[in-house]
Amino acid sequence: MALTHCPKCDKKISDKADQCPHCEHLMVADPEKLETQRRINRIKKSSSLITQSFLGLILFIGGLAYSSWYAEDGMSNDKIAAQVIAGIGVFWYLVSRIRILMFRRSGK
Ligand SMILES: [Zn+2]
Repeated sequence: MALTHCPKCDKKISDKADQCPHCEHLMVADPEKLETQRRINRIKKSSSLITQSFLGLILFIGGLAYSSWYAEDGMSNDKIAAQVIAGIGVFWYLVSRIRILMFRRSGK
C-alpha cells in the first residue's frame, strides 16, 4: 500500500483511499465520480430531511389523535401532553419542510 499526501490537509493517506480520512477531502480525480458522489450526498441529505418531516407529521397526527380520541374529556394531563407533542410535531414538520425548500433552492 503506497502512501500519498492529501492535497487539502497534506496528511499522509493511502493512495487507494477515495476520501481523505482526516479532512474528508475527496481523492477521486474523475469528475464523473465526483459528481456521482456529490449527488449521492445530496440524496442522502434530502432523504434524511424528508424522514424528519415525516416524523414530525407522525408526532402531530399521533398527538392530535390521542388528545381527541383516547384522552378523557376535559383537560387531563395526558391530553395536555398529547397536545404539546402535537405542537412539537407541527413545529418539527414545518422546520423540516423549510429546510427541504432551502436545500432544494441551494442545489443546481
Ligand atoms: Zn485531508
